[in-house]
Amino acid sequence: MNTCAACQNRMEKKKGSIDLRIRGRLFLVKNVEYEECRLCGEKVLSPEMARNLYQRIQKRQYTEESLTVPVLDCA
Ligand SMILES: [Zn+2]
Repeated sequence: MNTCAACQNRMEKKKGSIDLRIRGRLFLVKNVEYEECRLCGEKVLSPEMARNLYQRIQKRQYTEESLTVPVLDCA
């Protein structure tokens, strides 16, 4: 079991959706296994999964879906 890079707390294995920002673009990753820190909420993918996702993004093996994103404007 890994520990959190931010607060050294124990990480918990989870499966679900996470968002990833790669090269300034936001990706929603569904049904992915990851580890989450129960204390600070830090989410980490395994190096294998991160590599896998990065390759799929490079090969454009993803679907385009529109999401409604809540926006907070502080202007
Ligand atoms: Zn943490």
